[in-house]
Amino acid sequence: MNTVKYMLLLRLYARDNDYNGIQVVPSTEYLHIVNDGGRNYTVCLLERKCVCGRFQIDELPCPHAWAVLKSKFLMPEEYCSSYYKSSAIVMTYDVPVYPLPDKNDWNIPEHVAEMLYYHPNGKDLLEGQRRSTTKI
Ligand SMILES: [Zn+2]
Repeated sequence: MNTVKYMLLLRLYARDNDYNGIQVVPSTEYLHIVNDGGRNYTVCLLERKCVCGRFQIDELPCPHAWAVLKSKFLMPEEYCSSYYKSSAIVMTYDVPVYPLPDKNDWNIPEHVAEMLYYHPNGKDLLEGQRRSTTKI
């Protein structure tokens, strides 16, 4: 098992351990009502949604979806976004990244070197106060 998959499973198991009191009641093949601490959550496995919002936002099973998957003996990995899978991570870093040369070796055009950049969170300055600037 590779490291990414192992870390993902650890995260999912940690979620599972936090919510041991969850009860799952199937409504249809894909729709389930999950009772977690007196609150009901609706989980749709087909659309990969839960009313808590975490399943569709994180694209990882939330504790309620995890409880449904566990009750149906389904693999949670199949309900995770491919962005979390090791193949996607490897593809992300597949493009070579070259380090910048030493700053003294940079070839910066004069008009760019003279440009001043203001801090994006610049506040209104008091009279006589100087704005901090950064030069390349
Ligand atoms: Zn949920």
